[in-house]
Amino acid sequence: MQEVNFDVIILGGGPSGLTSAIYTSRSMLKTLVIAGNPPGGQLMVTSEVENFPGFPSGITGPELINNFRKQAEKFGCTITDENAVSVKGSFTELFSISTDSNNIYKAKSVIVATGASAKWLGLDSEKKLIGRGVSACATCDGFFFKNKNIAVVGGGDAAMEEAVYLTKYAKEITVLVRGDKDKMKASKIMQERAFSNPRIKFIFNHTVSEILGDNSVKGIKIKNTQSNEERLMPDIEGLFVAIGHSPNTKFLEGIIELDAKGYIKIYNGSRTSIEGIFASGDVADYKYRQAVTASGYGCMAALDAVRFLSEHGIEVKPSGY
Ligand code: NDP
Repeated sequence: MQEVNFDVIILGGGPSGLTSAIYTSRSMLKTLVIAGNPPGGQLMVTSEVENFPGFPSGITGPELINNFRKQAEKFGCTITDENAVSVKGSFTELFSISTDSNNIYKAKSVIVATGASAKWLGLDSEKKLIGRGVSACATCDGFFFKNKNIAVVGGGDAAMEEAVYLTKYAKEITVLVRGDKDKMKASKIMQERAFSNPRIKFIFNHTVSEILGDNSVKGIKIKNTQSNEERLMPDIEGLFVAIGHSPNTKFLEGIIELDAKGYIKIYNGSRTSIEGIFASGDVADYKYRQAVTASGYGCMAALDAVRFLSEHGIEVKPSGY
């Protein structure tokens, strides 16, 4: 077992955590990123990222993560690909983070940027085709479905938003809702927006039972949730799963204040209910969920942590601001 002390420990190795790391290391704070295992978060299953500013020809998700890591390491931060399993302690007595490799790391402050994971249907065929026609992010991948017939699964606000967004590109969008029309979770205004769009059609009481194709989507099988009857939709070439996200906060239950859905509650920038613990990115944000907004939140959390530590007598380099 290894025991090492840091100024800041950042939990999460996605765009948010790594942006925080660039800022805190550049402020001369001894920084550790516990990046997760596998590291990198949702970008690691995103093929092409075309909307992250600064990359006019696009960049793959894994390449972008790799660049973030190199940039953070350039300023002296340490990155370890482990999962944090518990957070104990306080600012005054140091926070103590245990990992699934049985290491304990200590720090004066913590930034939680463990992100959120898209919920999936759980089909083997889905697993095989994620990033190859199956996606959980229309703004990330919609562009690749120009003039194609696609399906969206889900009846919440996210599914409505994805469907409407996808009309920019797709020929026709079929939204598959597993329940009745009058029990849809989506807000009325979002429902109306989708219902009134002539390129979006709805099939209620149905979900996806299989996705066909080996390297790309070549049709889907859908199942009636009442009769269990299956039928084929052979023309579908893309499937967007929009059935919700889960914030990765299980290990923080009872430690930091979370909202009803498990997202970290933030106050005054990126502060959490615990002094010295900050939160950034999708772990606290269910609304925007973009790599660039996660990065922006990462910068904010780092600046808040730097300011907090300097107010408590830890030497930081002012040019870090
Ligand atoms: P929700 O939990 O609101 O909706 C999830 C949807 O997915 C429900 O229709 C649910 O069906 C369905 N679903 C769940 N599991 C399955 C499954 N295995 N197969 C088929 N369907 C399934 O999640 P959202 O991501 O839509 O929204 C999360 C939060 O974010 C909400 O508070 C929402 O308002 C907010 N949001 C706001 C937006 C905005 O204001 N612009 C945009 C996007 C989200 P069932 O109802 O039967 O359980």
